[in-house]
Amino acid sequence: MKVNFFEGKRWVEEQSAELEAAVREVIHSQSYILGAQGRHFEQELKAFLAPDSAGGVLGCNSGTDALILALLAADIGDGDEVIAPALTAIPTITAIRSTGATPVFADIDANHWLIDFDHTLEKVTTQTKAIIVVQLYGAMADCGELRRRLEKIGREDILIVEDVAQAMGSALRDKQAGTLGDVGTYSFYPTKNIGALGDAGAVFTESTEFIDRISMLRNYGQRDRYNAITPRGLNSRLDEMQAAILRVRLPKLKEWTRIKASLMDGYRAALKSSPLRFQSTHPELKAAWHLCAVAAPDAGVREHLMEHLQKNGVQTLIHYPIPCHLQAAFQEFSEGKGSLPHTESLANRVFSLPLTHFLLPSEQQHVIEKIRDFEAW
Ligand SMILES: *Cc1c(COP(=O)(O)O)cnc(C)c1O
Repeated sequence: MKVNFFEGKRWVEEQSAELEAAVREVIHSQSYILGAQGRHFEQELKAFLAPDSAGGVLGCNSGTDALILALLAADIGDGDEVIAPALTAIPTITAIRSTGATPVFADIDANHWLIDFDHTLEKVTTQTKAIIVVQLYGAMADCGELRRRLEKIGREDILIVEDVAQAMGSALRDKQAGTLGDVGTYSFYPTKNIGALGDAGAVFTESTEFIDRISMLRNYGQRDRYNAITPRGLNSRLDEMQAAILRVRLPKLKEWTRIKASLMDGYRAALKSSPLRFQSTHPELKAAWHLCAVAAPDAGVREHLMEHLQKNGVQTLIHYPIPCHLQAAFQEFSEGKGSLPHTESLANRVFSLPLTHFLLPSEQQHVIEKIRDFEAW
């Protein structure tokens, strides 16, 4: 049996008639940018995330741009510091740097694998303007707690950005991921919880001031045509084709989330007595899992186990083998090897098992059996 990490063909085939109809409609609409599809998607996503909130959703080009727009909306740039975990996708840090701000790395917690608030607070300086909480793999850290702790040290001015590229649909105490901080940033990269068929992203915020600024920033800095207000504008609009595709998929998110939660429970139960460790989660979290990340006892075991699985047709991947503070691109902002011990330890041991809503139960069974077969722990 062959179990690919992401058998994307199945996802497209699930709704191919609706997807094709949506694209056909856009083709003939003569409206390709900032039109009705995008507006409807923004309203539908807002209704999903926080129906009673005064804020709103703005579509943009990608999850990376969503982060850049969030930081630019708060006027963050040269000389400002933004704290973020190093165990994240590279774009979290790229986005900080693209605004001119300085990334400051915080370690993760050894158990829940998300940014460690104690270490984060140690990194706060007078230059700190924002903290990016990455809701990694679909798990969530409690931004409410972070806000209370910032208030206690008199730093309620620090912007909390939730990078929920991997946690769309997760909820903590019934609050949707991306609505706990000041701004939430979403990615619809094709393999994320809701994938576009191309690049797409979105921003959620309660702040009407940010909504106003981001709507200009994503459109050259213009308030309306030929009327530029904000000097640091981008071209980052959600195009109508992707918006139409996302509108077909958004209504299915809850169903997909349930299927993945049950597969995740299956992995956890079946591998309970194995030496693999799972991410520990907040008791009030209802996760929309993007990845099933597990930690092997050490780097050598991970390598051999991944090889063993590959030989048996099971594809696994590592998220992420090189934490951002050890990336060449960010060296000047890093204290180097040894500076983030929990991050480095996990990066050496973590890898991801196949987990999608279109993974078949028989395929999951095969993955579990092959892990159980493994002897070289
Ligand atoms: C995917 C991802 C991004 C970037 O999203 P794009 O849409 O690819 O730009 C940012 N942060 C995290 C944590 C991600 O997983």
